[in-house]
Amino acid sequence: AMSEISCISTGPAHSVAVVGGGISGLAAAYKLKSNGLSVTVFETEERPGGKIRSRSQDGFIWDEGANTMTESEMCVGKLIDDLGLREMQQFPISQGKRYISRNGIPEMVPSNPMALMSSKFLSTKSKLQVVLEPFIWKKTAAKVSDVYSEESVGHFFQRHFGKEVVDFVIDPILAGSSAGDPESLSMRHVFPEIWDLEKKYGSVLIGAIWSKILSKKGKNVANKTTGKEKVQHGSFSFQGGMQTLVDKLCSQLDDESLKLRSKVLSLSYYNDEISHKWSISYSSHLDNQKQQFLDQSFDAVIMTAPINIVQDMEFKKGGHPFILDFLPKVNYLPLSVLVTSFKKRNVKRPLEGFGVLVPSREQENGLKTLGTLFSSMMFPDRAPSDQHLYTTFIGGSRNRELAGASLDELKQVVISDLQRLLGVEGHPTFVKHFQWKNAFPLYGYDYGLVLDGINKMEETLPGFFYAGNHRDGLAVGKAIASGCKAAEHVVTYLCSSTNKNMK
Ligand code: FAD
Repeated sequence: AMSEISCISTGPAHSVAVVGGGISGLAAAYKLKSNGLSVTVFETEERPGGKIRSRSQDGFIWDEGANTMTESEMCVGKLIDDLGLREMQQFPISQGKRYISRNGIPEMVPSNPMALMSSKFLSTKSKLQVVLEPFIWKKTAAKVSDVYSEESVGHFFQRHFGKEVVDFVIDPILAGSSAGDPESLSMRHVFPEIWDLEKKYGSVLIGAIWSKILSKKGKNVANKTTGKEKVQHGSFSFQGGMQTLVDKLCSQLDDESLKLRSKVLSLSYYNDEISHKWSISYSSHLDNQKQQFLDQSFDAVIMTAPINIVQDMEFKKGGHPFILDFLPKVNYLPLSVLVTSFKKRNVKRPLEGFGVLVPSREQENGLKTLGTLFSSMMFPDRAPSDQHLYTTFIGGSRNRELAGASLDELKQVVISDLQRLLGVEGHPTFVKHFQWKNAFPLYGYDYGLVLDGINKMEETLPGFFYAGNHRDGLAVGKAIASGCKAAEHVVTYLCSSTNKNMK
């Protein structure tokens, strides 16, 4: 936990620049401000939120970016509490009901081992393989993670649970959470927690059971001491969509501290006897015509812009160009989001629950989408009561070209898949499309080089810190945690430099 640090509250407040008004930057800004620092957030777009983007029209509310988040990171719960957002939290109805398509039919994913054994979701052979995993991997695997340090997610799960689990469980989950595929994603970088379980326990299942028991024990102790009620688990959003969280964070910043339509172009670090500072140049579009170039200086910087954009920025250290040639190129996955609505009477097999994911192998059965969220089943207030609202994802590493297809083509693809999966008939009453050219950075085998590059920037540029979904995970909760961590580092950095100056 981060406490107020006294060295900062004496003298004039230190100033910190946060580049990027996505969720990681806004969380960082909030933490910095609560520590008494002066903060300025720079955001290129005219709206804050980055990959969180809720919209509403004609009685519909939908999210074109992240749809839900979880509270798996400690600081996320604290942030929601501090912002007074508990009452706005919205938990999806029947969120435990999640489906994966097999032969064009949505099959409910068993939510526990007993349900798995009695379901027809996997073949008997695969079920056996799952049950035997603890025995096979008990001792043999303690050092195996080192041998397979460049292992793909697919290979890892195939070793433990077999090919069918990879094809019909892991593949769709990856598509739904990162738009990636089992062969190109790196186990170490995508699932660091599971990766560590293998190191510690050999068996992933045994490790999962142990870590659940241990975390429950920890939580019980915490609950007893704080007397807090049990929090609701699982995925959630907020009334009005995920943007509610963004807007609440922004409401804590005044107009001067949140600079929209302000694109950071270059950053320069200089130090002399008395001070060391960052000078930031940015272009500002006050209205759609006028563009201004401005400068402002700060004591520290938190960068949250995607790495490919950082690579286009100009860095200087002590008057000399600081070349970022050590930062490798990041591979991005494109995605289209299509929001459609159908009259309830035109959906013949509606499903209650979270949504349906489509494994790559289902392309053999003519399905082309990555998956669809049952948006109005989860949140009934997001559509007029006579309609079902759906949010469908298309593209990713499976089908990069389709992500950039025309609206007509995307509409056809989505209608055809929903016809198959849910029995929709006729045309949607409402259609919205949003295309993300760089939806997700791909955490591939050599992603370690990107992380090394980020570390190197922090080590060689005093007062520079990096946060966001390129570093600590793609989920909203991880991006928030990353922002909070960077804010803590800034506080520590400014504290130690204040102490040095006082000596
Ligand atoms: P970003 O949101 O990308 O923020 C970076 C910000 O920096 C942007 O606003 C950008 O405009 C700004 N910027 C860039 N360059 C500059 C510059 N030069 N100057 C100033 N500003 C600049 N996660 C979940 O947990 N659950 C989900 O259901 C989920 N669904 C998703 C669905 C989609 C379609 C997408 C794309 C992502 C989804 N995610 C989901 C992932 C999650 O939304 C993101 O990982 C997270 O929001 C990233 O936050 P961030 O702050 O790291 O980056």
